[in-house]
Amino acid sequence: MPALPKGDRMKHTKAEDIPWEPAPADHFTGKVFFGPLSHATEKGLNALAVQFEPGARTDWHTHPDGQVLYVVNGAGLVQKDDGTTVEFSAGDVVYASPGERHWHGARPNSPMMHLSLTTGGATEWLADKVSDEEYNRHKA
Ligand code: MN
Repeated sequence: MPALPKGDRMKHTKAEDIPWEPAPADHFTGKVFFGPLSHATEKGLNALAVQFEPGARTDWHTHPDGQVLYVVNGAGLVQKDDGTTVEFSAGDVVYASPGERHWHGARPNSPMMHLSLTTGGATEWLADKVSDEEYNRHKA
């Protein structure tokens, strides 16, 4: 095993100390909460737990280096740039390629929490919100 860089220190954050906060309403529809998991001094990886209430979803967006979503609980939807929608549930993994236009969120009748793992900087938000009409087209 290679030696860890000097200065690395383990950090343990108790569940109740994760600083959950409302997601920015200008980029989401419905109630969404962020639980930041990566420490501010950890450059490179942005690890975020994201809790969506039923029906809540992101706006259309892209990620400069792509995004791994790991679904912790509940059931959700992701829509791809070609218009197709994929349903996912706890334990599933969704990968969005760098620059791939998409949105994700909870199903209408289920909350959903996923981990979002990204590098490369901030989400690039597009102008389009996901209207109720568009979202409801994907109800199963
Ligand atoms: Mn995304």
